[in-house]
Amino acid sequence: MTFESLGLHTSVIKALTEAGYTKPTGVQEQAVPAAIEGRDLLVSSQTGSGKTAAFMLPALHKFASEQQAAPAAGKTPNQEMQASRSRGERPRFKPAQPKMLVLTPTRELALQVTTATDKYGAHMKRVKAISILGGMPYPKQMQLLAKNPEILVATPGRLIDHMESGKIDFSQLQILVLDEADRMLDMGFIDDIEKIVDATPESRQTMLFSATLDGVVGNMAKRITKNPMIIQIAGSATKHENIQQKVHFVDDLSHKNRLLDHLLRDVTMDQAVVFTATKRDADTIADRLNIAGFAAAALHGDMHQGARNRTLDSLRRGQVRVLVATDVAARGIDVPAITHVFNYDLPKFPEDYVHRIGRTGRAGRNGVAVSLVNHAEGVNVKRIERFTKQLIPVDVVEGFEPKRSASAPRSNHKPGGWKPGDNRGGAKPGGRTFSKPGAAPRKEGGGYKGNRSNDSGARRSFGDR
Ligand code: ADP
Ligand code: MG
Repeated sequence: MTFESLGLHTSVIKALTEAGYTKPTGVQEQAVPAAIEGRDLLVSSQTGSGKTAAFMLPALHKFASEQQAAPAAGKTPNQEMQASRSRGERPRFKPAQPKMLVLTPTRELALQVTTATDKYGAHMKRVKAISILGGMPYPKQMQLLAKNPEILVATPGRLIDHMESGKIDFSQLQILVLDEADRMLDMGFIDDIEKIVDATPESRQTMLFSATLDGVVGNMAKRITKNPMIIQIAGSATKHENIQQKVHFVDDLSHKNRLLDHLLRDVTMDQAVVFTATKRDADTIADRLNIAGFAAAALHGDMHQGARNRTLDSLRRGQVRVLVATDVAARGIDVPAITHVFNYDLPKFPEDYVHRIGRTGRAGRNGVAVSLVNHAEGVNVKRIERFTKQLIPVDVVEGFEPKRSASAPRSNHKPGGWKPGDNRGGAKPGGRTFSKPGAAPRKEGGGYKGNRSNDSGARRSFGDR
């Protein structure tokens, strides 16, 4: 399958060739033709599988085709404002009338989508994408909106602010995308999302992307789409077969820190994300790692947007090797050189585990995801295993064995040579995993479901205005 055979406009294909994309990913193969036809989409597929292009390419294709059909363009609101000013009239702000709106849960993700759009649309005339984000100064955003961009990429809270002050008019909107819809609901954005959807025309095309299409997300998806095509890639969005997952048991904090230092010196490691439960821990651990000689930096929601952007830029440029982050700040980050993810603390919700480890193994690469777990947290590992329907093998590093033998099985550490699929099925020769005889049998398709409706209430405070 090629991008040409998906029917994309030549200007889009040219940009993809320059970006080094040789063929569409699985989700793109399915989503692009259906979206070009104008269908609504509900998509769940693994992180890193190229969902941004799956919704952005058909949109850019549409705009490129429209431009070809009707090349004449009117004045932008900005030009009109200037013209009226030169006529001596009092300038009036005309609301922006975007053709496409992409909603994302976090600022980082919004910026990433905007950057990807600039890349995919590099050979198109007059297609402008801007980000509307919490934390960005209002005057700057007014300037961006005055350019009347075709594409808005926004976090819900700030967008609502602009809508309510009359800065955005959605009457011309053709395409609405909800990226990481499950995350947005988890973050308490449901009311904002419904308000935004209500402000858009019924005739719009809607595309919703989510790790899961069950529960609250599924209900919302049904309400806001018409006869959607449902695309679920490779069985599950949560399997991550290209990521080698393991658990290391630790006795105490000092054991955990020593083991983390050791694992960070792995020569196969390029860049890593270390996840912590709290913002404070993120700072403390980043400081400690810096003192230990690692190029580490923290990323969390208490930092100013400028500092967050600078840290991510340093990560992308390779100046930061170890990013120590909280869930919210690191959500959706796409840095291909991230080879390792460490859970310094286990996430509160199994869904977060899936999102965390998805920071590695981007675009078909392999990755390693290591959880450092206290003995008492074994039950939380089991919850994650039930959610992902996968066993996470226990690993032990020589010289760093935990004292408690119950959770210290013989090492199944394999020096290098791991291939995708190795961690399927659990037990390996010479190693022991949770599937040892006598352990609780694991139910395939078992009854566990993330309790999203309750979770979302507890997490409202994460809202990213
Ligand atoms: P997702 O949203 O599914 O997590 P992204 O859209 O962020 O994934 O894409 C993940 C990475 O894959 C990005 O670095 C992107 O540039 C790259 N990518 C996307 N599509 C292709 C493709 N067809 N060929 C090569 N790389 C791709
Ligand atoms: Mg994405």
